Amino acid sequence: MIPPVLPTYNRADVAFVRGEGPYLFDETGKRYLDFGAGIAVNALGHAHPYLVSALKAQSEMLWHTSNLYRVPGQESLARRLIELSFADSVFFTNSGAEAMECAIKTARRYHYVNGAPERYRLITFEGAFHGRTLATIAAGGSPKYLEGFGPKVDGFDQVPFGDFEAVKRAAGPHTAGILIEPIQGEYGVRVTPPGFLKRLREFCDASGLLLLLDEVQTGMGRTGRMFAYEDEGMTPDIMALAKGIGGGFPFGACLVTEKAAKGMVAGTHGSTYGGNPLAMAVGNAVLDLMTAPGFLEQVRRTGSHFQQHLAMLLSEYPHVVSEVRGRGLMLGLKLHVPAPAFIAALRERGMLAVGATENLVRLVPPLIVGEEHLREAVEALAATCAGYEAERKAV
Ligand SMILES: *Cc1c(COP(=O)(O)O)cnc(C)c1O
Repeated sequence: MIPPVLPTYNRADVAFVRGEGPYLFDETGKRYLDFGAGIAVNALGHAHPYLVSALKAQSEMLWHTSNLYRVPGQESLARRLIELSFADSVFFTNSGAEAMECAIKTARRYHYVNGAPERYRLITFEGAFHGRTLATIAAGGSPKYLEGFGPKVDGFDQVPFGDFEAVKRAAGPHTAGILIEPIQGEYGVRVTPPGFLKRLREFCDASGLLLLLDEVQTGMGRTGRMFAYEDEGMTPDIMALAKGIGGGFPFGACLVTEKAAKGMVAGTHGSTYGGNPLAMAVGNAVLDLMTAPGFLEQVRRTGSHFQQHLAMLLSEYPHVVSEVRGRGLMLGLKLHVPAPAFIAALRERGMLAVGATENLVRLVPPLIVGEEHLREAVEALAATCAGYEAERKAV
């Protein structure tokens, strides 16, 4: 019999009832150190008092009006995101995939209104993940996510990850732009080669193409900068954000330059809920905390300490761990042993982490974790590695 909740997820048999900072508590009262953070979503931990009070205050005033009217929270949050980034304008959505849809539509409309409607194709990269809508599974190109869902949405040309020559070969008279994650999250915290994004920028400028970044996972402080592109010496034309931007409240945003947004005039795009007052109140509160002096420096410092700890795990357990990857607090341990079982064993020990396509444990804790949480995490990781090591020696 089909369960009441459509069984599209392989769920772990645990349900959380409460959260506090980087900790979650299940129905039995057991405490978990949450280094998955709802897949890089709870950037400020669980039940942050400042976010709770912002949401509470807004919830007692107004939940929803409509994009038929001005929404002051959108205007203030958009101004702040513009101030912090390359962008000149923002469209608010309810999720990452919707932010990506807006990004793709913006790129196509740009060429359309410039008299080149044949330029509708985007070059994307193997291992990419951009969401689960029909267009974003086509952009991501994963056969597993495309299978059985009918004709693949046309307009995406995929090339090998980090292969600049392949990008040049794939570009043609139908190309609208290039779409890339600065660090591939879902695939396994795969960082683009140094200088690659800058070369893409130069190539786009020389060829009249738009550069689209999917920073749904890497954005909002995750890598130790507000946006990952800041470490790359370049800026995009269009960028999708979500996950950390709401600290757990569902929303996303598509940031654009004035030039790229040329086609997005009244009537071209919309959303019933996008940018609703509740989301905007939380989003503004999230930014208050993330722009506080020292916040991002702290993320960089914590991230680099965590990376050092993980490098030690690698040297201590070379038969279990094969590689440490990532930047800031977007880190991954590539394993010799199956990651799903490793993550289950970790959970038994009271620590949560997330898997990835490429047999990897993704460590994406709330950005507020301190040294004491790192120590606790490294202890749980080391104990789990030691368990595998003991098993291996016993054989
Ligand atoms: C999570 C994610 C998405 C999709 O976001 P949803 O909110 O699940 O639609 C898109 N791109 C990247 C890089 C992501 O990590």
